[in-house]
Amino acid sequence: MMDVPGWLDLAATLDLPRSGAGPAFPVVSPRDGTVVAHVPDGGQAEVDAAVAAARRAFDHGPWPRMAPAERGRALLALADQAERHRDELALLVSLEMGKPITDAHSIELRALISTLRFYGELAGKGADELPHTGPDALAMVTREPSGVVAAVVPWNFPLTLAGWKIAPALAAGCTVVLKPSERSPLSALRLAALAREAGLPDGVLNVVTGDGPAAGRALGLHPGVDVLAFTGSTETGRHFLRYSADSNLKRVWLELGGKSPNIICPDAPDLERAAATAAWGVFFNAGEMCTAPSRLLVHADVADQVVDAVVEKARALRLGDPLDPATEMGPLAGRAHLERVRGYVDAGRREGARLRSGGGHDGLFHEPTVFDRVRPGMAVAREEIFGPVLCVLTFTSVQEAVLMANDSPYGLAAGLWTADLGTAITVSRSLRAGTVWVNCYEEGGLNVPFGGYKQSGNGRDKSVHALEKYTELKTTWIQL
Ligand code: NAD
Repeated sequence: MMDVPGWLDLAATLDLPRSGAGPAFPVVSPRDGTVVAHVPDGGQAEVDAAVAAARRAFDHGPWPRMAPAERGRALLALADQAERHRDELALLVSLEMGKPITDAHSIELRALISTLRFYGELAGKGADELPHTGPDALAMVTREPSGVVAAVVPWNFPLTLAGWKIAPALAAGCTVVLKPSERSPLSALRLAALAREAGLPDGVLNVVTGDGPAAGRALGLHPGVDVLAFTGSTETGRHFLRYSADSNLKRVWLELGGKSPNIICPDAPDLERAAATAAWGVFFNAGEMCTAPSRLLVHADVADQVVDAVVEKARALRLGDPLDPATEMGPLAGRAHLERVRGYVDAGRREGARLRSGGGHDGLFHEPTVFDRVRPGMAVAREEIFGPVLCVLTFTSVQEAVLMANDSPYGLAAGLWTADLGTAITVSRSLRAGTVWVNCYEEGGLNVPFGGYKQSGNGRDKSVHALEKYTELKTTWIQL
């Protein structure tokens, strides 16, 4: 294991309370099982205080009332702060959830900074509407900030996903209470401190650390929260809908789980690239990806060739210490999560899938695993594993592939590989998924929306459409 750089003084960097100052929980790094910090274990009292601060800042503070371009400048200043502290933020992400440091830099930090810049630059560039009326009236349709947003996010991309909520909500003029996952509170606490240094007014961005059933639930039920923006599992998403129904009918936006199909047709323009991308897609971030193409649907005529190439890629991946820049795959995020993934590997074997590669683990480091001869009804083909496990199913016609792809409660994303334009268009139109990638996977910029169909959620992150989640439409009708 590499040494944690000496310049990282967590207690000082994160302004953590001294021990004994209140309830706290340990942050255990999956890289080696050490406790890297203790952070406040927030419950009702901490949530009440954070919501009160956000409420004050929204109801009486300058933030929602300032020119949108001025809010944009504050977001750009925060982006610059994050850029200056890139190394430190990347290290915190790597330590808290085990992401390889190279990915923490090139994916997490790049996504956070570019998201803050995208919405910072967008602020003030929109326009409202003047619908046509008779000559005796003027109608105005305007968008106003929705109020206090509670953003509850998971641990797999702690800064990317926080950025996707915070940046559009703040740009729209809302104030925010962010609750990171209990597995990844360090990067969120550091982001809040950087926001203060960047000059965001008091109460505009608040962070509460704590677990889901206490802090998350208290936010979900809080009467002072106007909007819940959640990313996480479908199961927890259901809780948030109930919290809203049992409290003030706050708006609930959900980005949930997935079991994304990746369809490889025999006429794929480059089968080697299709196979390499299939392997990269499902093993990237140790498979802890909502969009992981975890169901590989491959035409029977090319299945052997594709699966052999995927297995070769899986075996070549470098597992190791997330702080080593050469590491391609780190540990799973924690012991309970490892047990869950192992449970699915056992289920795959029991149900008669053929294990082509991997299946084992060393501590929290789980081998990239490939099952073929998977049938659509098997648990490994239907349920989200959220680990480095690929299930290969075969088809003999495009129609069959579409039926198999759509036979899922999820609808987050899908991949399709074909050289035929007609197939590309008809199949992508038939797929019930929020994103369809044709001859690629995980591509796209901030200007395209991201989110799911069916039980993968509602609403969209990224792009101008994300602003719709944090604004209310107002009609003002003036009789002249
Ligand atoms: P999770 O649902 O367990 O937790 C997510 C967040 O919700 C955490 O902050 C957690 O503390 C909180 N939470 C948990 N239980 C709660 C409860 N009962 N009440 C209130 N809050 C609660 O998810 P996870 O394990 O952190 O993340 C993995 C899941 O996230 C996967 O299902 C994955 O597909 C999904 N995910 C989706 C997207 C997307 O954009 N669609 C992106 C990343 C991850």
